[in-house]
Amino acid sequence: MALVETVRGPVDVDSLGTTLMHEHVFVLNEEVRRNYPGDWDETARIDDAVAKLTALAARGGQTIADPTVLGLGRDIGRVQQVAARVPVNIIAATGLYTYNEVPLYFKFRGPGAAGLDPMAAMFIADITDGISGTGVKAAFLKCAIDDQGLTPGVERVLRAVCRAHAETGAPITVHTHPHSGTGRDVVAILQAEGADLTKVVLGHSGDSTDLDYLTELADAGCLLGMDRFGIGMSPSLERRADIIAALCERGYADSMVLSHDAACYIDWYPHDDAKAGNYLYIHEHVLPALTERGVTAEQLEAMLAGNPRRYFTPPG
Ligand SMILES: [Zn+2]
Repeated sequence: MALVETVRGPVDVDSLGTTLMHEHVFVLNEEVRRNYPGDWDETARIDDAVAKLTALAARGGQTIADPTVLGLGRDIGRVQQVAARVPVNIIAATGLYTYNEVPLYFKFRGPGAAGLDPMAAMFIADITDGISGTGVKAAFLKCAIDDQGLTPGVERVLRAVCRAHAETGAPITVHTHPHSGTGRDVVAILQAEGADLTKVVLGHSGDSTDLDYLTELADAGCLLGMDRFGIGMSPSLERRADIIAALCERGYADSMVLSHDAACYIDWYPHDDAKAGNYLYIHEHVLPALTERGVTAEQLEAMLAGNPRRYFTPPG
């Protein structure tokens, strides 16, 4: 039996079922929250997350992969309190989210002339020993590249992620910015580092309508994260669905995963719940739109369950 770590402990990968591959529970600036808590109510926020994930389970969602890492306010203790009360597996991540520089904490703990980047050692410890004494183990790695491209900080994190992937076999999810073609920069570094590209999700690929770009990355072996449904970002639902259907028609159903990039609570957007998203949007709107466009039940099953199961199945 192949096991994958979740916030509640290890489960059989075959039991993951319908898996949304990029959903946050909480996205916060913890330093701001602690100093300027405003109307933050810990109990109410946890209850709200429990309600939203319970509703997802009622629609058939069984697992979410939560790529909330350093830079996004990861607090595993808070997520544990949610996980204990919902019939949904939550898979935790390790890594670092930056579009440019690394935090000063890391700047002055740089990689030595030889040896392992201390950042990579931290990621590895989250996967092998657990996160900050909770016993919860991360099961995938997360980093980011955006329109600023492959800055020295972004490249350092990506290479540290690759080192941790090589050491542990944990799969990788990268926030990319398709409009600046950054998926290609990521693939180049991953290939140079000898990463297993079949264990890589290029997140936010669904923002692209460029079939040449998308098939190039899929042909390299990567999974395309078609993952910003219902959070008010361009392109529209219809256009995103057109692209997924076109890729399915060309034989790429095994190269895509679906998600919302929603959060129960995100502090980036003041007074705008719509941007936090809705975990039910795929079941309510996306699956019907894909079916209408000729995507088969088997292809949906691949994107929602088969591909996530393959991604989280440990090597060897
Ligand atoms: Zn995200």
